[in-house]
Amino acid sequence: MWPKMTMRSWRWITETLQAILIVGLPFIKIRGESAFRFDIPTLRLHVFGCTIWIQEFFIVLVAAIFLTLLIVFITLVFGRIWCGWLCPQTVLVDFTAFVDKTSRKGLGHSIASYAITFLISAIVAASLIWYFVSPYDFIPAFLSGTLGATTWGFWIVLTAIIFLNYALLRHKFCSTVCPYAKLQSVLFDKSTLIIELEPDRAAECIDCRSCEKVCPTGIDIRHGIDAACINCAECIDACNRVMSRSGKKGLIRYAFGPGGGGRVLRPNSFLAGSFVVIFFALYVYISFARVGIDVAVLPHDMQPRTTEDQKVINAYVLSIKNMLDKPVDLNVTVEKFDETLIQSIKGPIHVKAGGMDRYPLFLFIRKSPAIKGTRTITITVDDAAAGIHIKKEAHFVIPDKL
Ligand code: SF4
Ligand code: SF4
Repeated sequence: MWPKMTMRSWRWITETLQAILIVGLPFIKIRGESAFRFDIPTLRLHVFGCTIWIQEFFIVLVAAIFLTLLIVFITLVFGRIWCGWLCPQTVLVDFTAFVDKTSRKGLGHSIASYAITFLISAIVAASLIWYFVSPYDFIPAFLSGTLGATTWGFWIVLTAIIFLNYALLRHKFCSTVCPYAKLQSVLFDKSTLIIELEPDRAAECIDCRSCEKVCPTGIDIRHGIDAACINCAECIDACNRVMSRSGKKGLIRYAFGPGGGGRVLRPNSFLAGSFVVIFFALYVYISFARVGIDVAVLPHDMQPRTTEDQKVINAYVLSIKNMLDKPVDLNVTVEKFDETLIQSIKGPIHVKAGGMDRYPLFLFIRKSPAIKGTRTITITVDDAAAGIHIKKEAHFVIPDKL
């Protein structure tokens, strides 16, 4: 027979899974890179086997808009479910609950609990750094004493901030500092999921105040919805314990809207949900449609000129960056705007995965009275096998004089 699951038990499970995910994600390697990491030296974001370069950060922007809309949607429908069940602040305050208990047992216990909190803070700070410096580089460097001064500096500062937060602020962070908490009341409507005392059963309350005593933010939920409530459901468990002694169900519950009269499917949730779906679809589309090759046609030091044997030469520099995780062989072809045109790049250009280089391109035509001034030309860079087809415009200048 399964033990009866309380809200607390379910929260422990979700919080543990969340902690494992956050700490473990940088350790998961996909195609040789951490599953999620921003590499500062190369300004590249590694996301589940895909590498996004700084030039492609519009993809990250669309992903950020999608995540923001998702948070709006979740808050509108499920209220502060994130705060109570998944927010790293709540998770770590719960994991360091011994700080609250031991502080009442004397100085020795307090020092021991603060030392453990400091150790946890250092691990949490390191796990944040692993989203920038691979743990496969960080840990060996730390163990061998070769960790860089900058990394040490960030680690110490982050550890201090996290330690002070968990030693002093704890749940006060949610009602005083957290910007998301301040935004939430704006996102709520009459059907948002809340925690409330069942209005029809308020008379059954025996005024034991257990719900108030367990509340981490010191709320008496019997007085109605409070902006400081983080939906942790501790009061639900407390009331269930008390009322079960007289064979009754607890008086506090989750409800969609005051009195439970709200609906999940409503115009507001449809509207917010539609935007979430649109931006998710846009993110998937631009991720799959990305070319992954950046080509720029730059001016060459050599000015356009006419040679003594009546040839016109224009020179360019092709800057090519391969942002894909595979090498490419690129053919460069210039639109034959004149039948005498000859181009210097003949065979395919091999660019390794993640490689970038510059390639001079010289164009020659035979001078004729019919061609004068400046022509707009099209340079095509393509690799049919890799589905790459890029067109760039440039100018071909025919000088009047030699
Ligand atoms: S009122 Fe209940 S759900 Fe809200 S913070 Fe307090 S214990 Fe948690
Ligand atoms: S725990 Fe339940 S019975 Fe006790 S005061 Fe709170 S609502 Fe009333």
